[in-house]
Amino acid sequence: MSLAPVEMIDPFGRRVTYLRVSVTDRCDFRCTYCMSEDMTFLPRRDLLTLEELDRLCSAFVAKGIRKIRITGGEPLVRKNILFLFRQLARHLSSGALDEVTLTTNGSQLNRFAGALADCGLKRINVSLDTLDRDRFREITRWGDFDQVMAGIAAAQQAGIAIKLNTVAVRGVNDGEIADIIAFAHGRGMDVTLIETMPMGETGSTRADQYLPLSEVRERLGTRWTLEESDYATGGPARYVTIRETGGRLGFITPLSHNFCESCNRIRVTCTGTLYMCLGQDDAADLRTPLRASEGDDLVAAAIDEAIGRKPEGHDFVIDRDREPAVSRHMSVTGG
Ligand code: SAM
Ligand code: SF4
Repeated sequence: MSLAPVEMIDPFGRRVTYLRVSVTDRCDFRCTYCMSEDMTFLPRRDLLTLEELDRLCSAFVAKGIRKIRITGGEPLVRKNILFLFRQLARHLSSGALDEVTLTTNGSQLNRFAGALADCGLKRINVSLDTLDRDRFREITRWGDFDQVMAGIAAAQQAGIAIKLNTVAVRGVNDGEIADIIAFAHGRGMDVTLIETMPMGETGSTRADQYLPLSEVRERLGTRWTLEESDYATGGPARYVTIRETGGRLGFITPLSHNFCESCNRIRVTCTGTLYMCLGQDDAADLRTPLRASEGDDLVAAAIDEAIGRKPEGHDFVIDRDREPAVSRHMSVTGG
């Protein structure tokens, strides 16, 4: 008798195979579109331990998750985070997972790149919104550009492929986007551009920062030939290839074009809260069932119940009178 494959199917027939895990809400940067300068973080006692995060991830793997992305806050500032990567590596070795990956601001990559490669990470996303040192400091408030550049070099040296994530912010980096793409493609890195999403108070007005990528794309088209590509990573980006550079460019456009119909992903925070949609507040507490029993039956049941109410989609709009659309910051769920 052959067993049916274990899988999670939501009410709209979408197979959920991709889990994003925010391992901390803390960060060593304060990017202006993401956080306010003065943030209140979760008390440490509310956090799942790394052992609990591993148990939770493994419960999801048993339910059919094939890809895990570790994110934050800044995941590499969580103390002893390599423990989690080392634990997850066993699911790569067994073939239960296709991929473990990471989204990082790059600040700690110089010291972690080699160890991450040893844990089976093959490609990671690094966020970079400018190539100008002073502007980098303005955007990140606390970041050091040279440290991030050294981190990128170390990861490439360790054989990890890098995709740059660049948030397009009107009046901040709109004049620089082509240069960032040329820089990345010249070093064998893909780039994905992201529209600013209305998540959490930041002290800035999102309506002023919002730059539709349709506008960016039009401008890039006057410099380069953008060829439609059917390349897909299982994420929400749509890709083109730039004929002149040979590199790939992705667009994530949650506002001007949402991507919910093919959504295969869920997100869990460092407190064990499961969000079925980035743009909705509905969530499920998995920490209580995780801690209530040593076995995984309770948490598995809570996961099933939550997947049964994954919403059809989000309804982000940037509205001056109604912002932010979602009160939690991106650093809670990790984007
Ligand atoms: N700290 C890591 C980093 O910056 O890559 C991981 C977490 S960060 C929240 C993940 C991604 O979300 C980054 O690429 C960041 O630029 C993006 N991001 C943060 N706030 C955003 C917002 N309001 N709208 C769009 N993207 C945002
Ligand atoms: Fe930190 Fe990433 Fe948010 Fe910037 S985008 S403040 S690096 S979590």
